[in-house]
Amino acid sequence: MSRRWIQNPNRCADEYLDGIKDFIKFARRYNPGATRIRCPCRRCNNTLWETIENVGFHLVRNGMIETYSIWNLHEEQLDHASSSNATTMKMLNLLWILMIKSWILYRMLFHLHRSTSITKGKMTYLHQ
Ligand SMILES: [Zn+2]
Repeated sequence: MSRRWIQNPNRCADEYLDGIKDFIKFARRYNPGATRIRCPCRRCNNTLWETIENVGFHLVRNGMIETYSIWNLHEEQLDHASSSNATTMKMLNLLWILMIKSWILYRMLFHLHRSTSITKGKMTYLHQ
């Protein structure tokens, strides 16, 4: 498919808007499940990551990098998947630590509560 729309200076042209739709479709297909992709607009220059919806807005507002006609940076789904897996692992580790910490806290509170209620029990016992 021709990608000469990228060089079209008229960003309201049907050709340009269709081209953006095409790119979004392409990005979704090659980055399944990705919430953020590299934004190929002239401002982000493929270095900033944006949600696919925002990328669409950026492309209308800022235009796509004129030389970006081969979308190689948006087909790297393997690299992307492995890096997001690493993030998931980090998150799981963090969650695990958090769970252990809250369990310890829970045990501490439980013992504290038990010992205070025992004291309270003794107190009422003494008062009777
Ligand atoms: Zn952008």
